[in-house]
Amino acid sequence: MCSYFDKAIVFLLLLCLFSFSSFAKEDTSKKKEEPKKGSVLSKFGSRDPKLKNGKTKEEGKNTSNVAGKTASANKKDEKKKATTSTAKNTVITKKGPKRLHGEVVEKKEELFSFVLSGRKFAQGELLFLKIKPLPRILDKLGNFKITWEGTELPFSQKDGFLLVFIPISPEFSKPNGILELTEKHLFSKNESKKYEIPVQKTNFATSKVSHLTMDKQYTSEELSEETKAFIKDCSEAKAKAFQSKSEIQIDSDFAYPVKDPVLNSPFYKRRIYNKEKGRPHGGSDFKGGVGEPIYAINDGTVILARSMYYEGNFTVIDHGLEVYSLYMHQSELLVKPGDKVKKGDLIGKIGSTGMSTGPHLHLGLRVLGTMIDPLSVVQTELLGSKPLPEKK
Ligand SMILES: [Zn+2]
Repeated sequence: MCSYFDKAIVFLLLLCLFSFSSFAKEDTSKKKEEPKKGSVLSKFGSRDPKLKNGKTKEEGKNTSNVAGKTASANKKDEKKKATTSTAKNTVITKKGPKRLHGEVVEKKEELFSFVLSGRKFAQGELLFLKIKPLPRILDKLGNFKITWEGTELPFSQKDGFLLVFIPISPEFSKPNGILELTEKHLFSKNESKKYEIPVQKTNFATSKVSHLTMDKQYTSEELSEETKAFIKDCSEAKAKAFQSKSEIQIDSDFAYPVKDPVLNSPFYKRRIYNKEKGRPHGGSDFKGGVGEPIYAINDGTVILARSMYYEGNFTVIDHGLEVYSLYMHQSELLVKPGDKVKKGDLIGKIGSTGMSTGPHLHLGLRVLGTMIDPLSVVQTELLGSKPLPEKK
């Protein structure tokens, strides 16, 4: 092939599909977790043969396989459902969003209990952790620290619960991740405890591409000075916006951003062009015609709404605890930075602006600097649902 095409495609794949990668944190899985003194380790999940019944009775031992209750009993059923809705990665049920119960792990300690839930405990998924300390120790809680693979996670305290999101990087490469809770009043004998969470592999899609149609401005080898300056301005605006850190702003599950959700390109799909693997897709693409409505997937604050070089007309909503939803290629922006939005609010219209091959909505979910599959939250019961207002 002529070099023009090769270069153009490499350029395209590098920039279009993962324009947020520059913000992505290093894969936290690289950090090795050594057991600390005074810390105990618990294992969860179906990988542990002892947990087949979902229950064991080992507390306070140093490397115990503690389980509380896992949802392994429901797993078969859930897996079946999950396969029907995601197997082909192309069509989401048109009969309206069906919510999956997903996987749940419950754990009861002496002074607190917690529930960890997610669509599945796997690469590219977002998990939600809800910790409930006994009321009598609530006032005593001070220096609470929650880490996932050694990275500290922000949390909010609300109605007697501690609420935490745990993003599992799509590049996570170990069979288990370590969740560690540290607080001296939380455990009667130790200051902290580690829990081993099994992480499944996700089969991200790949596709062979023979040709791509894209506006010439995105495939030319040389960018004008003006364009370069615009790209720099865009990336600075994003960096600034993502500094926004807030308490949790949501109190119910996430919803789809479009009325009849049909997926035409799933999260982390890699395009293979001339045997060369492109960068993975940083979000999920929904089908839609120009001018069709885009809705906020949950409550939050708009932190960015402007025209961008790659993302086109672009909106970012801060949902708190460093969870942001990203909406790209819009034909029209209907919100502005600072606006408070509610789940289901109209925020813009579908388009094909920026680096886009045709009208669609690219929805991204960025959590603590990592791109996560947005469908891992919109399809799952995480926080409990409240009904959406009727869409017009
Ligand atoms: Zn996309």
